[in-house]
Amino acid sequence: MTCPFPNGVYLDNNATTLLAPEAKEAMEVFLTSKYGNPNSLHKFGTETHAALSKALDTIYEGINASDKDDVIITSCATESNNWVLKGVYFDILRHGTKNHIITTEVEHPAIRATCEFLETLGVEVTYLSPNAEGILSVEQVRDAITPKTGLISIMWANNETGLIHPIEEIGELAHRAGILFHTDAVQAIGKIPVDVQKSHIDFLSFSAHKFHGPKGIGGLYIKEGVELTPLFHGGEHMHGRRSGTLNVPYIVAMGKAMQLAVDGLEYEEKEVRRLRDKLENALMEISDILIIGDRRHRVPNTILCSIRGIEGEAMLWDLNKAGIAASTGSACASETLEANPVMVAIGADKELAHTAVRISLSRYNTEAEIDYTIEAFKKSVQRLRKISSTYIKHA
Ligand SMILES: *Cc1c(COP(=O)(O)O)cnc(C)c1O
Repeated sequence: MTCPFPNGVYLDNNATTLLAPEAKEAMEVFLTSKYGNPNSLHKFGTETHAALSKALDTIYEGINASDKDDVIITSCATESNNWVLKGVYFDILRHGTKNHIITTEVEHPAIRATCEFLETLGVEVTYLSPNAEGILSVEQVRDAITPKTGLISIMWANNETGLIHPIEEIGELAHRAGILFHTDAVQAIGKIPVDVQKSHIDFLSFSAHKFHGPKGIGGLYIKEGVELTPLFHGGEHMHGRRSGTLNVPYIVAMGKAMQLAVDGLEYEEKEVRRLRDKLENALMEISDILIIGDRRHRVPNTILCSIRGIEGEAMLWDLNKAGIAASTGSACASETLEANPVMVAIGADKELAHTAVRISLSRYNTEAEIDYTIEAFKKSVQRLRKISSTYIKHA
């Protein structure tokens, strides 16, 4: 099928998103004439400092942080996640505190690989598997707590399934047990309401390029009074917690993107969900297709499905030819061609896991794009099943 949209149809928003035009516009002047270091005391410095403060205020508001908390700008959520886990480990080395971490089997590699590295240094890590619905239960977390548990790190929403974990309840549990609680909220911001106070969060990672900000900028929220050994020592930027001259243009753009994300939550909840559900309902009419996870427990933009008899990669390339961009799951794992690890963790058999296709929408997708995608998707499945050597229609 020839794609009627000149730029194609982008349905891979859990991998990265379009930079919002308003965010691009907001940062432009800081890439050109307003280039001062915000720590400088002259006019060049004070004008960027003012813009920086404004952007930070927006980010604080966006996650409902109190002004006594810290929101530290980082280069990406991978850095934020590494920092929390390694920073807590440095605290163990310095203070001899508790050396057990509870996390899940379905975290982003930025958590998973860091935990595995820390295990080589003697930290004990428990990886919890979600239940058959793909969601972690509070009871599982409670049962995994030992007197040595120092940190619980559980993602808010999963990047592949879109499934939402009960973060508020887990936060409450962690705090009652006196255990630090971190959440990777990269896939939650802009999709569902995020409130660090209500959810008893000590650390929260976020990344601008997942909510229509620029790539290479993110942050870590740290609750008031919570210690975390820095990874970057140096010029004492950001209250001494992360040194390095601040990327003012990108921070300004991230602030704008955060404001748009929060203002757009209602649109996300109604309109993006409606388009997602329309597409999902149409996919469910295809025989032998499995949609992963109850849509009521998912962020409004995500579908992970499995199409029996068709390799995820084959489906992806066929859609790509039709101008549609989707994914087989985490872009970070796509080079390995391994079975989708999240699907394996939630108990899917190997065949299902190899046939996973993820579709993730954004507020920029239109009804016409979704209608076109429905048609193209059905045609791809038909064509690929005809040439599939493994597909036998189930009765
Ligand atoms: C994309 C993603 C990350 C990594 O974010 P970067 O800013 O690209 O490093 C971390 N966690 C989740 C859940 C993600 O989806």
